[in-house]
Parts: sequence; C-alpha cells; structure tokens
Amino acid sequence: MTVQQIQPVIPAQGRRFRAYSAKHLDQLTARAGLSEAERLTVRAVATVLPFRTNDYVLESLIDWSAAPDDPIYRLVFPQADMLPPEDVAPIAALLTRGASEQELQAAAHAVRLRLNPHPAGQLALNVPEFGDEPLPGVQHKYPETALIFPRQGQTCHAYCTYCFRWAQFVGEPDLKMATDDMARVVSYLTAHPEITSVLITGGDPMIMGTSVLRRYVEPLLALEQLESIRIGTKSLSYWPQRYVSDPDACDALRLFEEVVESGKTLALMAHFTHPRELEPALVATAIGRIRDAGGVIRTQAPLIRTINDDASTWSAMWRTQLRLGVVPYYMFVERDTGPQGYFAVPLVRAAEIYRDAYSSVSGLCRTVRGPSMSATPGKVCVDGVADVAGQRVFVLHMIQARDPALVGRPFFAQYDPDAVWLSDLKPAFADRFPFESVQEGARPMARRGPHLVAAAD
Ligand SMILES: *Cc1c(COP(=O)(O)O)cnc(C)c1O
Ligand code: SF4
Repeated sequence: MTVQQIQPVIPAQGRRFRAYSAKHLDQLTARAGLSEAERLTVRAVATVLPFRTNDYVLESLIDWSAAPDDPIYRLVFPQADMLPPEDVAPIAALLTRGASEQELQAAAHAVRLRLNPHPAGQLALNVPEFGDEPLPGVQHKYPETALIFPRQGQTCHAYCTYCFRWAQFVGEPDLKMATDDMARVVSYLTAHPEITSVLITGGDPMIMGTSVLRRYVEPLLALEQLESIRIGTKSLSYWPQRYVSDPDACDALRLFEEVVESGKTLALMAHFTHPRELEPALVATAIGRIRDAGGVIRTQAPLIRTINDDASTWSAMWRTQLRLGVVPYYMFVERDTGPQGYFAVPLVRAAEIYRDAYSSVSGLCRTVRGPSMSATPGKVCVDGVADVAGQRVFVLHMIQARDPALVGRPFFAQYDPDAVWLSDLKPAFADRFPFESVQEGARPMARRGPHLVAAAD
C-alpha cells in the first residue's frame, strides 16, 4: 500500500474513545450481577489498584452473560478477593462512611507499599547515565535494545488487572519514569552504536495521538545503527479503532510506512491475553492495515491464573494469530508485584501449559518462547522439569541476560512445586546460579533486593 492509498475505513465504527474509571465501577459491577457487598469490596480494591476501561472493551469484548467469570471481565475488572481481606475491609469501611479522598488515598497508599510497587528497582538499575547525568525515561538493560518511555504514553486504553506497571497508574510518583527529551535520547543512542533496536513502551505509546507519537519516532529514522523500532502496545486488543477509524489512524499508518521506508523494521509488540480479544472483525481489519503499511506484529502476554491458565487457550490464541499473520513471540510469567499472589501460576504448571500448547501448534507458531521470567539478571526461561542423576530439577536457560555470555546456557534449580518466581528457586548441582557472582552466591536471591524490570508489553 502506498501512502496515498491509506484511507479511513468503516467510518460507521468510528466511535470516539471514552474511558470509564472507578467512579463508574458500581454501575458496571451491578451489570455483572455482583451483590451490594461485593461491589463495595471491588470499589475498595480499585482504591488501591488502577481501574480503567472503555466502551469497546465493555460492548465488544466482555461476555456479560458469563461475567463475573468471563476472562475478559477478569482481565479489566478488579476482583473482590485480589487483595488480602485485612487490607480491603478498612478501606471498604472508609468508603461506607464517606471518608475524604485524602483519607482514602492514605489508606490505599499504605496497602500499595506492601505490594512491591517497584519490582526490580527499575529506576536505579536500568536507567543509563549520559554525560554524568541519569537519562530518565530510558532503560538500557541488554546491549542491543533500549527502551523509551514517552512522557505522554504512560497510560493505556484500558488497564489489565494484573499489570506489573500498576503503581504508575495510581500516581505513586517515583515510578513515573518518562522522557520527552528526544534530543538527549538520540545523543545517547548515537554514543551507543551497539543499540540496534529501540522499544517504545509505556503504559501504551499508542494512546498518544499520531502527531505526538511522531515526535518520538521521527528523530530515530536517521539513525543508521537502528535495525528496528518496536512499539509495545495493547491497543489492538483494547482499541483497534486506533488503526482503522480514529481521526489520526491513517497518519499512524503513514508513520509506520516511513519507518519501513527508512530501512528499518517497524514491529508492534502486541499484548494479547486471551483468544477472545482477536475475535472482533475490527481487529483483523486493524492488523491488515498495519501489515499493509509494512509493519510486523509480534505477540506476547503473561500467563495468568483464572484468565488464560490452560494450554488450549494459548494454542487457540497462537493459531488465530498465525491465521491473522501475526507472530507469537513471548509467554511471560506473572511478575512479583501487585496482586501476584492472586494471579501466579506455579512454574512447574507454567512449563506444562507452555509445552502442551506448543506441542499442539504448527511450526509456524513455534516462534514463541517461554515461559519467561523478566527478572534481575535477565529473561529466564523455564524449560521444564527433569530427573538428572537421581534428582528432580528445573531446567532453565536465559533468553536475555545483562551478561550476553550467559544467554542460551542451560542451568538447573531444585525442584519446588510451589515456586512461582526466580526468587523462590535454589540452584541444583551448584552453589550459585550462573548469573550470581561468587560473593553474591552466598546469599539467596530473595534477600538481595528488588528484581529487575523488563517490558512485558
Ligand atoms: C524483553 C526486554 C527487551 C527486549 O528483548 P528481546 O528478547 O529482544 O525481545 C529489552 N529490554 C528489556 C528491559 C526487556 O525486558
Ligand atoms: S499490562 Fe500493559 S496494557 Fe495492561 S495496563 Fe499494564 S501497561 Fe497497560
């Protein structure tokens, strides 16, 4: 498709984006059939964790006849039992007696602090230095890839209940890391020719209007060193209108074309949690338009208890993606923040689900990797469980590592049916993991401070 050929389609579906927030929650949970007491509890949970949705999610994705068990309902609506009752009950009491916003926020903040809101010390460990000053809004963890967090892209068309960036959406200030200083970012990239891929992430960068997105993308086009520009987004799931009928949909596609014309791959790293998100015809239309503009789409999502924790959900999702011409890329393990206790799937089960799904799809879907933990030392993949020299162990390898020498080398951890995260694992046949230095090996990971951030979407 040439620039001139990109025309708006299906204007009849050109509904304007409208967000719903916590103040609509009581009405919406009533629609799901929740009792008054349950609705109050959900409101209390939503005081602590972010809630946001829109009418496309409400009317085209959620199956209200199956709510509150519907997976898409569970993807966006807080659940009454997501947080410990002893945290939720006092906030529910505050709501009942009409406490001030200030009181509510103070109580909510105290609960948030217990939820590891800063997994992986994402600021401290991954923000690069440039000219002796930190470069906020950029993360440079793996040599070849830099992440950019655009200032105006730090929200989403809807929020996922399991989001690992949840803290930044509820105004916990020190998690707001973003930049609007592209001149400095470009200087940093130029000084680091090893960076061949830029990943623009958020929040969701596609929440930005195209003219704003352009301010972040355009300065990158002249950088010969870049092979790809990636955009992490859930907009294909939560607001496919972004590529079809929004007023600046065509401008976005033109921008993608310009990336391709500059001799780089434009890749959307699309977050899809459940095959239902792929069902509306509008999604196929949006995907077709992005592909016509020369963009490629790769998909990723975490494995989430009660939403997508069975193999047939994943294989159905990967097969539909293949049919639509998008490429399965990552299955992640839910990270150790927020309501992780509620959504976590044991690693042993995650590896089983992955293997069962992977073994039932064609080779063209087996581009996917996982289940992968984005942890302090890098992306750690759980290959499975094996009996080695009479001992039951996890077999693991690193897909990405701060230290590239560690990538792809198998290593072992003691079998633990309850382990849900890297910090729960202990090395097997060795006194430390390969990514632990000799001194660090003396201490278990869990006590070595927070885990490192990575881009889950
Ligand atoms: C996952 C991730 C990347 C990209 O890794 P790829 O394997 O190239 O997709 C880059 N930076 C961080 C911090 C990540 O977590
Ligand atoms: S997981 Fe991604 S799309 Fe979902 S709320 Fe978090 S940043 Fe937004």
